[in-house]
Amino acid sequence: MLELEADVLVAGGGPAGTWAALRAADAGADVVLVDKGWCGASGATAASGTSIWYVEPDPEARETAMAAREGLGGYLSDRGWMARVLDETYAGVDELADRGRYPFPRDDEGHEIRRGVQGPEYMRRMRALVRRAGVRILDHSPLTGLLTAADGHVAGAAGTRRQEGVDYRVRAGAVVLATGGCAFGSGALGCDVDTGDGALAAVEVGAHLSGMEFSNAYAIAPAHSSVTKTAYYSYASFYRADGTILDGAGSTRGRSVIARTLLDEPVLCRLDHAGPVEQAAMRRGQPNFFLPFDRAGIDPFRDLFEITLIAEGTVRGTGGIALTSADCATGVPGLYAAGDAASREDICGGFTGGGSHNAAWALSSGSWAGRAAAAHALAGGRPFPTTGAGPVPSGRTPARDVVSAVQAEVLPYDINLIRHGDRLRPALERLDGVWDTVREGLDGGSWRAREAAAMTAVARWMYTAALARDESRGMHKREDRPGSDPAWQRRITVGGLDDVWVAA
Ligand SMILES: Cc1cc2nc3c(=O)[nH]c(=O)nc-3n(C[C@H](O)[C@H](O)[C@H](O)COP(=O)(O)OP(=O)(O)OC[C@H]3O[C@@H](n4cnc5c(N)ncnc54)[C@H](O)[C@@H]3O)c2cc1C
Repeated sequence: MLELEADVLVAGGGPAGTWAALRAADAGADVVLVDKGWCGASGATAASGTSIWYVEPDPEARETAMAAREGLGGYLSDRGWMARVLDETYAGVDELADRGRYPFPRDDEGHEIRRGVQGPEYMRRMRALVRRAGVRILDHSPLTGLLTAADGHVAGAAGTRRQEGVDYRVRAGAVVLATGGCAFGSGALGCDVDTGDGALAAVEVGAHLSGMEFSNAYAIAPAHSSVTKTAYYSYASFYRADGTILDGAGSTRGRSVIARTLLDEPVLCRLDHAGPVEQAAMRRGQPNFFLPFDRAGIDPFRDLFEITLIAEGTVRGTGGIALTSADCATGVPGLYAAGDAASREDICGGFTGGGSHNAAWALSSGSWAGRAAAAHALAGGRPFPTTGAGPVPSGRTPARDVVSAVQAEVLPYDINLIRHGDRLRPALERLDGVWDTVREGLDGGSWRAREAAAMTAVARWMYTAALARDESRGMHKREDRPGSDPAWQRRITVGGLDDVWVAA
């Protein structure tokens, strides 16, 4: 057993976790960061390119930016949080350019374009910044549960060092959960590590979740690849296999048309609305989008190619750990949450955070959580852990069987994307049965078992909230409850493990 002590423990080394660790270290805290993979190469950003909600501090531009998604999000967002995120993101991206020396591309007049980053380059620089700030990084070391003191204060976390095969415990004065969202092992690029571990750990110590009904993001990808870059499909036309146009299909509002068609037949696509200028800009902006096409010898602007929809769950949804104050506290003393692990309803409402908001949120919420965790720990010391949320008991059922059982309920378009109470209710009942299996014990190693347990728990919270929201709003669309009901313009929270509760 490896035993460590720190002021602040950060779990997760994506953008949210690295910004949290950097801010906590800058504030004078001794910081340990643990990552399931390799901090700098793991998670949804590291593998892709992300646009960022980086908006000049010009009142008109900011107003337009804030107004843009309010309607799509069902008016559940909060202007105060949006304004704070825009400020923090603007400062953070500029810091990335100056302190992190990020090589932003330049426009024809020589001005840097700071509205997007290449994930591998961004995360490489964040790892370097974090290390330079003195943060100790434990790679390949998934957290498997939080430790608490007798009074319920979070006192650190336990986990496993995958490569050494030993467990670890870090005693800490505050913990930031930045473990990303939950994509249910769907195969979406970079999301294999995003299995909802942070949500499970948080609920085990009494935190709540919010916006879980908005966890059904599905992204368009070429059928032969896992690269989901839906924004580029705004330049697309969609076709049936016989070459006729698929009416109503679209990247933003017409995704359910694509889903319905995919249930019975293939859907083809071509980015035929992009002119030469856009094509060049797209290649410059997101080179990894083109890799699978180049490898397969497909010109996506000229050739028809088959597409699919890949579930991204809470990664590009908005549900997650509910925050109880502006510093990203969770209501559990000493516990903070950031990035996709936390709810993004404050800036996205019920609509996807992909396409710029999530990246801004990861930076901003990570920064706030890191600063607050440092202040909390430096003022309050390091409580003595008396209780550890135990790993899932050892049993005979393979963890991968549980994952498959969860996927059978959450990946099909006609359960999770095209929703109806008559399909959601039996799916939730089956998931409750899967949870009973988890409770009986799983085989597959402590952290794999935790992943399976977390995916099961997230699926149950998601469908409980989806059934509670008795209307359609944002990305939550129910065939049996079409249209939004003004009475439902409010948040839904869920929690609990064996007995899941919901409050609206
Ligand atoms: C293909 C793709 C393109 C995207 N494009 C955009 C975009 O253009 N704009 C935008 O705003 N958003 C975009 N997003 C969303 C954006 O990538 C995420 O919102 C962002 O990565 C969230 O950062 P994060 O740090 O919270 O999570 P991640 O980047 O997913 O990082 C989570 C980290 O936590 C670690 N972890 C997980 N479990 C544990 C555990 N138990 N213990 C320790 N560590 C753990 C993981 O290894 C990983 O390093 C995109 C997502 C995808 C999949």
